[in-house]
Amino acid sequence: MAKEDPDNELGHFSLGKACLDAGMPKDAIAPLARAIELKATLSKAYQLLGEAHDRAGQRAKAIDVLTRGVKIADAQGDRMPRDAMAKMLRDWGAPVPEFKSASAGGSTAGDTGSVSATGFHCTRCGRPTGQLAKPPFKGEIGSKIYDHICQSCWREWIGMGTKVINELGLVLSTQSGQQAYDQYMLEFLQLE
Ligand SMILES: [Zn+2]
Repeated sequence: MAKEDPDNELGHFSLGKACLDAGMPKDAIAPLARAIELKATLSKAYQLLGEAHDRAGQRAKAIDVLTRGVKIADAQGDRMPRDAMAKMLRDWGAPVPEFKSASAGGSTAGDTGSVSATGFHCTRCGRPTGQLAKPPFKGEIGSKIYDHICQSCWREWIGMGTKVINELGLVLSTQSGQQAYDQYMLEFLQLE
């Protein structure tokens, strides 16, 4: 996908994440950096790029990326990646940028996210509101999405999913097409 559709950040992001998961942090750096070039607000990509730099022995670059990433995630209200990046910086003894989007509960940097009265919070963006009215489809994956993903993240995926289908020419009536689609969806929603 990174090759076929070089302007789609998801292909580069997924490639970088796969390299990182496979224990190849050096190979993860270029695709993750490209994903950020294409979409500067992709806060999770900063988190993974920072991790890749660090694991490749480039701590200074990691700090630089994460410092930018914390600010971007904070500005967007992406609390999960923001807090994960802030934690890495703190663990390394690096300065952590101050959060501007103070959360309702007056949370501190060490807070892992508040929980709404219903107990829902989106595991992708960290928002404690906006649960879907019902699972988007039947089955295990549908209920997982209902339990963990907010409406706005779900809408983001609908847009991206359409692109993925078109660009990869996926045929959802086939098992392999459906599997590939689910794989991209879970990766995009960070539900793996
Ligand atoms: Zn969300």
